[in-house]
Amino acid sequence: MLVELAESVKVKLRTELKAAGSREIGGVMMGEQIAPGHFRVVDLSIDSLTGGKAHFVRDTEAHNEALNAFFLRTDHEYDRFNYLGEWHSHPRFSVAPSSQDVSSMIDLVEGERGIEFAVLLIVRLRWWRKLTLSCTLFCRNASPLAVDILESSS
Ligand SMILES: [Zn+2]
Repeated sequence: MLVELAESVKVKLRTELKAAGSREIGGVMMGEQIAPGHFRVVDLSIDSLTGGKAHFVRDTEAHNEALNAFFLRTDHEYDRFNYLGEWHSHPRFSVAPSSQDVSSMIDLVEGERGIEFAVLLIVRLRWWRKLTLSCTLFCRNASPLAVDILESSS
């Protein structure tokens, strides 16, 4: 699997991460499938932290709203434009997923909501607005897999 970030998404992330400072933020990622197994993150929702200090808790209602707006905008073309996964920031520590991150993603794909796979993106803004990222794929009945992130030019 390959994942890339649209330039507009990178701009949005840098702006929001800078504004959030040491606060953890996150949300859902909306993806476009460019080729089988090749996805571009075309938009993401942004919430403030609702959980504890080191763990981002998803706000299901806000996320569903963001997703529904995305489906409307993309004409319900679910094969091409769909939910891709979750993202959050680790403003103060490494972008490697924490054990809580891993278990909540496993709960998500093993749950009953029909999500077969989900990508977890963790971001951190470093000096000179450089983004550090980690990307992990979670599939039902499979071990988490590190995903390559492509630098996108569009
Ligand atoms: Zn985390």
